[in-house]
Amino acid sequence: MENISRRDFIRKIITLPFFLEVAYAKNSSSQGIIKLPKKKYYSYEIEGKKKGKHILVVAGIHGNEEGSYYFARFLKHISLKRGKITVIPRQNFVSILAYVRGYNGDMNRKFPYVSPSDPDYRFLKYLKKYLHRKDIDLVLSLHDGYGFYKRNKRYWGECIVIDEVKYKHFELYKVAKFVEKFVNKFVPKYHKFGIKNTHTFWRNTPYKDMRKTLTYYSLVFANRPAWCFEVSKNLKSSYQKALYHFYMFYAFCKFFGIEFKESFKNLKHLLYENIKFKEDPEIILKVDEKFTRKYKLSKLNRKIIYAKKLSIENIYGEEDGYYPVLEKHNLNHEIFKISKATKILIKRDNKTLGYFIFKKS
Ligand SMILES: [Zn+2]
Repeated sequence: MENISRRDFIRKIITLPFFLEVAYAKNSSSQGIIKLPKKKYYSYEIEGKKKGKHILVVAGIHGNEEGSYYFARFLKHISLKRGKITVIPRQNFVSILAYVRGYNGDMNRKFPYVSPSDPDYRFLKYLKKYLHRKDIDLVLSLHDGYGFYKRNKRYWGECIVIDEVKYKHFELYKVAKFVEKFVNKFVPKYHKFGIKNTHTFWRNTPYKDMRKTLTYYSLVFANRPAWCFEVSKNLKSSYQKALYHFYMFYAFCKFFGIEFKESFKNLKHLLYENIKFKEDPEIILKVDEKFTRKYKLSKLNRKIIYAKKLSIENIYGEEDGYYPVLEKHNLNHEIFKISKATKILIKRDNKTLGYFIFKKS
């Protein structure tokens, strides 16, 4: 008898779907708890054998500019012969997940001062540490701007932005000119790039706001030359936006003697493959502080998870930038008390790949 019931019990466990297996009876509290992993501050370092200049690339400071972070996240796959590149691909991860310019206001206006109570504070502090590192020679701020600057000077798309022709001993215009000439060899006539000089140091500059940005901070306070590269938000695909970033970046590296292992043609091909690449990431769940389970997203997609406490420990794959987002909840938070069924979206940067539902058991 005992054996039979045990067999029945085991069969039950095997045949029942996971969400019933982890359902627990009766709980006095009506609220469940969801815990998300701590948001990572991603960085990659790529170094060639031969010594050369060291570039700091900062992308995704604005969350709705995917050309910038799709290109930057690709850089972890390249190799160098000469020089060094440090990449911060997702400076403003919360805004990337929300796919808005600034989920907590415009991060690129918070460089001179940000309150310690601001949710962006932590990430600006991390970046400033990089900016003040002695071994960083050059700084790039990557963006996607509206429109086409060459067609309308009020717009920011398709240009290299500099704060002045020359500042201290930094030849900002000279480098921008080289990049402009290079990129314009590869883009059609109606996508041509220009140079936008904001004359940030002029007393009467129409761009006073630029004194709150990363490039200005870098020039004045970190004493590093900095440029801002903008592709257009109006280009037809994310690939095209990332590709135009690649053209500018390649020219910039050429100017400063940084050498890639891969050829220009090969890098272009790798970028294309990388943008098209899709994977089925693994999600690690801890249910009621007891079971730790690993699920492919394809297996978890659209399922219901019953628990009192659900901890999403990690999401990982070959690529990075994965994060769970609770629909209609504050993206700055990582612990939630939940009373209703809640959809948890599995995202990679701005894209939703699938979801599952949390219900209090
Ligand atoms: Zn921007």
